[in-house]
Amino acid sequence: MKQYDALLAAASTTRRGTPTAAELAIAVLAPLSLFLQLLALVSYLASPALAYTALSDHFLKLVPSGGDDFDIDNGKLLAPILIPRVPGTPGQVAAQEHLVNFFRNELPSWSIEWFNSTGKTPVTGDRDIPFHNLLFKREPPWVQEGQSNLLTLVAHYDSKISPEGFIGATDSAVPCAILMHVARTIDHYITQMYDEMNVLGEGGTVPMDMGVQILLLDGEEAFLQWTETDSLYGARALAEHWESSYHPANSFYKNPLDQISMFVLLDLLGSADPTISSSFLPTHWAYQAMATIEQRMRKLNLLESNPKGPFLPDAEKVVSKFGRGMVEDDHIPFMRRGVPILHVIATPFPSVWHTINDDGAHLDMPTVRDWARIVTAFTLEWLDMMEVEPKDETSKGG
Ligand SMILES: [Zn+2]
Repeated sequence: MKQYDALLAAASTTRRGTPTAAELAIAVLAPLSLFLQLLALVSYLASPALAYTALSDHFLKLVPSGGDDFDIDNGKLLAPILIPRVPGTPGQVAAQEHLVNFFRNELPSWSIEWFNSTGKTPVTGDRDIPFHNLLFKREPPWVQEGQSNLLTLVAHYDSKISPEGFIGATDSAVPCAILMHVARTIDHYITQMYDEMNVLGEGGTVPMDMGVQILLLDGEEAFLQWTETDSLYGARALAEHWESSYHPANSFYKNPLDQISMFVLLDLLGSADPTISSSFLPTHWAYQAMATIEQRMRKLNLLESNPKGPFLPDAEKVVSKFGRGMVEDDHIPFMRRGVPILHVIATPFPSVWHTINDDGAHLDMPTVRDWARIVTAFTLEWLDMMEVEPKDETSKGG
């Protein structure tokens, strides 16, 4: 995503102290941000209320961390992504195979879709660079096209072309691995939920027809320097396509954008002491839900990290403080089209950001595993999984 380096130099002459990247984003994007928030608010008010029951302490205790699967050398989920993954290179093909094979082999109930596009970049001349978004989805088996509302968990899996050998561990190998962990952990609960709904003859009413999709987007990074056209290649192509992909005339949701109940974007996660701000008033309630899960898990001693402050400190943010902050990232093309966004990104950015040091060795593994727990619990809660809460401690969450 974009950090406002050039602006930082300019703005620091007119402000006391050195502004953070987030503050600069605030200054630059305030009018746009307000407009987009209004759009998202309208969209939120128009969507049906979702059932929402907090997970019990008992359930929170069952949420697994992923453990050794996040090991940077041999971990089944993370290690294969800790390679350069520049679009159009063999490294990226290897990353794609890892991601797709995981779902194909371990989560056969999830649909797998490639969304392919091409684009020209400022450093690759007339050559068309391929971009491949990977879309994984699980929805109730009885739904018609355009009927389910989809919690949409998002990260980008491409890596930046420079500096040479750049890994992008926080940016965004770790977020991708976390989403794989979320998928495999929630899978059997979803199966149980859909089976029980089927037996009871539930479902078919829109608020209950909940599913989840994971979007691993390509081409987030700029090739030369971040501009509107040199960045977000995959996200821009997908949002544009979905906007004009109309469902049949009698569908509840008019297109795939409309089906997104919340677009939860993870980025720059895995360094110690992250701070995630609440960026958008219309989705602040969802931020609060995630912050509450973090607080509860910390109180129950379920988290390993020992940060200076909470990862999500903005639960009490007052209304008058909103309308001002935004970091450009994969949510932008979706937000512009009215999709509600929860942006889970560390600001200030990790100190290794866009340097050769953003690699496995510089990750803080307790923080990585805590994010895996928090995002998994948030997802279970969103999907109302108290309905299928395991009865005893011996049941493991996958
Ligand atoms: Zn980046």
